[in-house]
Amino acid sequence: MNIFNSLTAKIEEFKPLNKNKVTIYVCGITPYDTTHLGHAFTYISFDALIRYLKFKGFQVTYTQNVTDINDRDHDILDRAKEQHISWKKLADFWTRKFLQDMHSLNWIHPNHYVKASRHIHHMVDLIRDLLDKELAYRVNNSVYLDTAKFPDYGKLSRLTQDQMFKDSLDFDEDLECPEKRYPLDITLWRASTADQPPHIPHLNSPFGPGRPGWHIECSAMSMEYLGERIDIHGGGNDLIFPHHEAEIAQSEGATGKIPFVRYWMHTGTVFYQGAKMSKSKGNLVMVSDLLKKYSPNAIRWLLLSHHWNKNWEYKEKNLIQAQKKVETIESVIARSETTKQSGSLIQQFTAILDNNLNTPKALEFLLDLAKKNSPGLKNLYSILGFRTDALSKRIAGS
Ligand SMILES: [Zn+2]
Repeated sequence: MNIFNSLTAKIEEFKPLNKNKVTIYVCGITPYDTTHLGHAFTYISFDALIRYLKFKGFQVTYTQNVTDINDRDHDILDRAKEQHISWKKLADFWTRKFLQDMHSLNWIHPNHYVKASRHIHHMVDLIRDLLDKELAYRVNNSVYLDTAKFPDYGKLSRLTQDQMFKDSLDFDEDLECPEKRYPLDITLWRASTADQPPHIPHLNSPFGPGRPGWHIECSAMSMEYLGERIDIHGGGNDLIFPHHEAEIAQSEGATGKIPFVRYWMHTGTVFYQGAKMSKSKGNLVMVSDLLKKYSPNAIRWLLLSHHWNKNWEYKEKNLIQAQKKVETIESVIARSETTKQSGSLIQQFTAILDNNLNTPKALEFLLDLAKKNSPGLKNLYSILGFRTDALSKRIAGS
């Protein structure tokens, strides 16, 4: 199988570190709102990958995190304050909503679904390690990653300094912090301040009360659950810089094991009405709203009809078409008396997916089979995570 690796910017043969065992870490949500189509695109793309790897005989261990606490994001904290509930309760509520939406789309739950707030001690250990190795520095009670100690900082994103500054601003990096030796240095631990609003929590650490940096969270949790080196690390392409670049420096700096990640896979951004789907633009399309009108399989079809690595624009007419296409396929499956398929069909199907997980082409292939009333459609359809249990019920009930 070949996949596009953002680290080398090449399509490469996929060879896991451990023969038939694959470790995958995908960056998760900040839980303060429901699941939009951009989230669903990332997580369903990786769901298809994981299902396909399992189909090919790999044993997959999948970890995904929940950023329920970090150093800069006040969305959870401010909302919890508005609603007079604890930030943990609010984060738990929206995490459950997210899982509900994703499970509706027949998403396989990760082996480890982990909350940042429960792993503070792992982050603290990692920060101490970076301080011991003099790759980080402490000013007052905050700790920063010394990016000057990493000559290849930028190897994943390949950005110019100007672009790094620009992208950092998009993620609220505190570039003007006077404690930093260099504006692009990464905050590993942000100390509590005397004048911070009372709803901002003070977590304990050997450096003093404060909160962990967002980037160190994923380094610590991937290491805890998957080891010092992992096969695949994924996330949206907006996370390449600074989040994943920082993770590489932190993890490789602490362990000396290079590369920390063998294959970086970044999913495309979903646009709507000409702009990136985002809370600030107010152009979010929520999965829970789509589920009121369309079947989960139709939404999955729409998502997988776009290549995981490319940006795309959501248009409702494409979802209407997706609904028609899954209905065509499902009516053929419901009528079909046999689920047997020929080896050559499987071979053709796997050849398509082996080529950088080309799901759009795999869906076209399925549609072609449906037009030919080909037996064996059901099995191939379910490999990509389309639910077929309801279809059997339909047959049984008819
Ligand atoms: Zn992450």
